Amino acid sequence: MNTLDEMVIGLDIGGTTIKIGLINRSGDIIEKWEIPTNKEEKGTYIVDDIWHSVAGHLDELKVNHNDIIGIGAGAPGFIDSESGKVHEAVNVGWKNFELAAKLKEVSGLTVFLENDANIAALGENWKGAGERAKDLLVMTLGTGVGSGIIANGAILTGTNGTAAEIGHIIVDPDGYPCNCGRVGCLDTIASATGIVHQAMDQITAHPKSDLSAYYNKKGKIDSKDVFDLAAQGDNICKEIINRTGKILGAELARAAMLINPSKIIIGGGLSRAGDQLLHIIIKYFQAYALPRVSRVCEVKLAELGNDAGIIGAAYYALQQYPRRNQGALSR
Ligand SMILES: [Zn+2]
Repeated sequence: MNTLDEMVIGLDIGGTTIKIGLINRSGDIIEKWEIPTNKEEKGTYIVDDIWHSVAGHLDELKVNHNDIIGIGAGAPGFIDSESGKVHEAVNVGWKNFELAAKLKEVSGLTVFLENDANIAALGENWKGAGERAKDLLVMTLGTGVGSGIIANGAILTGTNGTAAEIGHIIVDPDGYPCNCGRVGCLDTIASATGIVHQAMDQITAHPKSDLSAYYNKKGKIDSKDVFDLAAQGDNICKEIINRTGKILGAELARAAMLINPSKIIIGGGLSRAGDQLLHIIIKYFQAYALPRVSRVCEVKLAELGNDAGIIGAAYYALQQYPRRNQGALSR
């Protein structure tokens, strides 16, 4: 391995696992692995876990620590990227957590922190479906709904880092409670959790349906079941997918009217259903957006899968390093 090549460490911190990548300046993954997220004691051990694992891999790969120019990290929740602080990340346990400072303390490296959805947008735009668009929106449909916007070539962060929180736009004020403390956010419908919630409502409302019979036999239902049953022609499941795609298409049209992107990229676990959901999103997106907006906007599936986070985090570090260490980088 050519250790002369400078590298950055990309971290994608999630509620279940932490994905770690050693990435060069071209965006190639030299090595990647993951460790479980230890949520004990409000996530106190996570920083040490990460550095212990990274240091071990660097030794194993015989990488000189001087060749690592920094750490880029994406974390869930409300993030202040300038101060490197996590205000609140419910599914990790952090509250007012000085992530960048703590990580810098153990590693001796400069740490650049951003919200995970923004980081995924950077990753897809650098090496994935974005193809370096100047204006783009990436929406990740997983356990929750994440979204990141790049406008005029930069992440849209807003006044206190809360821009592009499309998942918390209220789309059904009489709907389900959201983990943000309010009711009816997009997140509560257009996520894996939301699909299951909708299915459970239908099972209760239609106890004699095929869907109820399926549920009673299996004892549980997940979002993939709903997509599979819809593909097999189950009308209730088809309706759930249609409603979800319609709501997503409408919200994406609203967002597109604000930023006029050339690409909208759909990623996350639900996007694995592929065209089944995508074609409904596109149908309603085109119905609700101004033709002048939809005509120039390609709505497509993400390409990097689970690597979007670590690649985006690496990109963010490479992008931010010269800005925050003026003169420190000779090239
Ligand atoms: Zn919410």
